[in-house]
Amino acid sequence: MAFEQLLKGKLLREFRTLFAMVEIYCKAHHESATDGLCQDCQDFTEYAHIRLDRCPYGQDKPTCNKCPVHCYKPHMKAKTREIMIYAGPRMMLPHPIMAIRHLLSERKDTPGKPPAGCSNRHLRIKASIKD
Ligand SMILES: [Zn+2]
Repeated sequence: MAFEQLLKGKLLREFRTLFAMVEIYCKAHHESATDGLCQDCQDFTEYAHIRLDRCPYGQDKPTCNKCPVHCYKPHMKAKTREIMIYAGPRMMLPHPIMAIRHLLSERKDTPGKPPAGCSNRHLRIKASIKD
């Protein structure tokens, strides 16, 4: 996936975890013509990707559950919850490492106000200006 290349480190891991969960969810709930995700779930992962890129905490991002910044639109947030509830418990078998890492980060404390200029997007733009 081309747009995956924008993210790195923790943000990329988080995106991959989310993507794996969407795959589990979509397969069980939606009929898609191809092997991949249905259009709706594809749009959702693209939306989530943009949110991750712009997350003001950048690499120190807390789990979305604990984050004091509510950056998702309400209906996207509702869809996320639905996906997590269904796919969360089903992650352990196909993706044990992702599942454990996610559980551990859920236990971290809620962060304070995000520092300025830490989002992945901000750093990307800064790096591209330097080149
Ligand atoms: Zn779907």
